[in-house]
Amino acid sequence: MPALFAPRALLPDGWASDVRITVEEGRITGVAPEAEVVAGDRVLGRCALLPAPSNLHSHAFQRAMAGMTERRGPAADSFWTWRRLMYRFLDVLTPDEIEAIAGLVYVEMLEAGYAAVAEFHYLHHAPGGTPYADPAELSHRIVAAAEATGIGLTLLPVLYTWGGADRTPLAGGQLRFGNDLDAFLALHQRAGAGLARDGRLGAAPHSLRASTPDDIRALLAAVPDGPMHIHAAEQVQEVEQVSAWLGARPVDFLLDAVGLGPRWCLIHATQMTAAETARLAASGAVAGLCPITESNLGDGIFDGARYRAAGGAFGIGSDSNVRIALGEELRTLEYSQRLRDRARNVLAEPEASVGRTLYDAAVAGSARALGRDAGALRPGALADIVAIDVDDPVLMALSDDALLDGWIFAADDRVVRDVWSAGRHVVRDGRHVARDAVEARYRAALRGVLARL
Ligand code: ZN
Repeated sequence: MPALFAPRALLPDGWASDVRITVEEGRITGVAPEAEVVAGDRVLGRCALLPAPSNLHSHAFQRAMAGMTERRGPAADSFWTWRRLMYRFLDVLTPDEIEAIAGLVYVEMLEAGYAAVAEFHYLHHAPGGTPYADPAELSHRIVAAAEATGIGLTLLPVLYTWGGADRTPLAGGQLRFGNDLDAFLALHQRAGAGLARDGRLGAAPHSLRASTPDDIRALLAAVPDGPMHIHAAEQVQEVEQVSAWLGARPVDFLLDAVGLGPRWCLIHATQMTAAETARLAASGAVAGLCPITESNLGDGIFDGARYRAAGGAFGIGSDSNVRIALGEELRTLEYSQRLRDRARNVLAEPEASVGRTLYDAAVAGSARALGRDAGALRPGALADIVAIDVDDPVLMALSDDALLDGWIFAADDRVVRDVWSAGRHVVRDGRHVARDAVEARYRAALRGVLARL
């Protein structure tokens, strides 16, 4: 690909001018500040280049339900009513439809400025729970959607065995998720076929409700490398169930009885005590925050101030995909802290930009959570790069760190002009290169789903 040249770029040691970046085979090979344009360069005249974050938590198929669960039911509404609609979708979705939905989701993520995604993939079987001829069929569909859109993929096939912490058998829509450990490991062995060169295969015990501690430990032994994600401490009800069953709160239990480290990402971690918050921060695990979904589901507020003060790593994910918006995830995270604490600029150090602080943390934390060699514009790293339009009316008065404050707090993801994922130039001038075809396929698939709901 041609070298990139931009008047401003955020490099590991700070902002630099007239930066020329060369890329070969998906990786950055050179970063030269104070450079000159060479014939054939792709000159991004009114852009600043940034390392592009990854989206560390997605259930792609749920995008098809967006907007359908915002109507109040007869009683107090909760997460559990949302799950009921999800199970109706699970009764009908076909492999083709799942691939089509994931395709549009990945286009939207790339257009928002994400270069990669960790797909927390728990939908494995046909409706009713019968495995497909290839038990990893639906994993292959996720890989195909990533391939078609060029998004970097960390595929996390999910081990989901039980319907509750008391080992309730799976029922209804959940039957599509279910595997015991042996069946899961057979599926996992096949799941990574066809991943792109920059793709990664990890694994994910769904939660302490759906997997037993013994199975989680056995999974860790059977899959010794790659990212390991788990939903933990999202809802008060879940914490109570797990505590009653295991005798400890979920994050404490995972720290003490499973052992957490840098390969781990705990999705949500919303309901932690102060002690759990400090312990998780010290463990090297990443907190996988999904502020838009957590707001939508009424989960509660992550203790970001305490967690950051303790040096904890975090990244952001779009989870239910009710809305795919990079800047808004970070804004929602900061605003939740402000509303709780009745304070401003909570998650930054004194004198520091909140936007820059949040962005840097999300880029680094998400790269770690995906096991992706990205997260900085430096030679050797994957070329995950986003160009934002510094001449946008909302950003034109801002520079350097304030550009990130502007993107996150004052603008939206329309400031994203171009995105490269491992050197693949997938978003040009604000639009994914295959949007029309991917969107047409999505529309046809959704019409089919709606007719059968
Ligand atoms: Zn989730």
